[in-house]
Amino acid sequence: MTVMDQLNDPRPSFSLELWPPRTPQASARLSEAIPQLAELKPTFVSITYGAGGSTRERTHELVVDLAMTPGILPFAHLSCAAHSVAELRDILSRYLNAKVTNIVALRGDPPLASDLPLPDGELLFASQLVDLIRDCGPFTIAVAAHPEGHPQSKDSSEDLYHFCEKLDKADFAITQFFFRADTYFDFIDKVRKERINKPILPGIIAPTSISSLLKMSELSGAEIPQELRDALLGASSDPTSVRKVGVEAAINLARQLLDEGVPGIHVYSMNSMASTIEIHEGIADLCASDFEYPQ
Ligand code: FAD
Repeated sequence: MTVMDQLNDPRPSFSLELWPPRTPQASARLSEAIPQLAELKPTFVSITYGAGGSTRERTHELVVDLAMTPGILPFAHLSCAAHSVAELRDILSRYLNAKVTNIVALRGDPPLASDLPLPDGELLFASQLVDLIRDCGPFTIAVAAHPEGHPQSKDSSEDLYHFCEKLDKADFAITQFFFRADTYFDFIDKVRKERINKPILPGIIAPTSISSLLKMSELSGAEIPQELRDALLGASSDPTSVRKVGVEAAINLARQLLDEGVPGIHVYSMNSMASTIEIHEGIADLCASDFEYPQ
């Protein structure tokens, strides 16, 4: 089965996002965790890219390493902000040479810690990157969806129009994280009314701290329900309790989504293997566990 066969299968898939580790210690921890991740039988594992190229080599190395790991199919994130077309072509050609043909095509955001906007690249929008990737080779391409609207968009119908245009050219989409099942289903209704029927995987996150959640939500536009804020604040003196609250919220949301029918669940793992494994345990009965790997 190809990754698209799996995403189009009626049985829901399970996939996750990783960051390229920043330190040798984090890298060693991730290497140790990879066999555990493979046991979860993810449909794919996507690897983030620091817009502007800050993680260019680290993303490439991790993606190529994972491509050689049995049971793991990596998707390399690639963003067009602050890059020339020649740089993007070079990155794509290195992936092709390494037999990596799965890309998440993005515009890119500045890092969480930065208050400065990213300089424009030669391509302004992710849909233009999708065109470039198609021109470079036989890639499977995912794009980002923003169920609550892109935070910089002033007009929700224009935002929806641009998203549909982008997904029409790509193979599937992964949503920004959100905290209410209705947010996803309302968005899907609008996209389906535009006759775009490609898979849109809901992205879910297990918040690990109220401060990082607030910062991420500010950037992504995700509304945080008051009850989740209260639960995280109530647990905030103890990191273990915060993690537990976050994992429980993620499992509850994923189960609601799976009960109502979604193509799969994509977990923003933030490289927390313990949380990812717990979320998987909490939903494994509702996800496919016997897909054959596309490698
Ligand atoms: P676009 O699709 O280009 O949209 C950006 C804005 O431009 C929207 O407001 C849209 O309405 C508007 N727009 C689009 N096309 C047009 C047009 N033709 N004319 C006028 N306006 C237009 N960021 C990173 O830096 N690295 C990552 O690894 C990363 N991974 C992500 C993974 C997922 C699944 C998601 C959901 C987000 C990820 N992001 C990442 C964040 C992403 O880069 C930001 O959300 C960014 O602000 C928008 O990216 P996009 O690809 O959706 O952009």
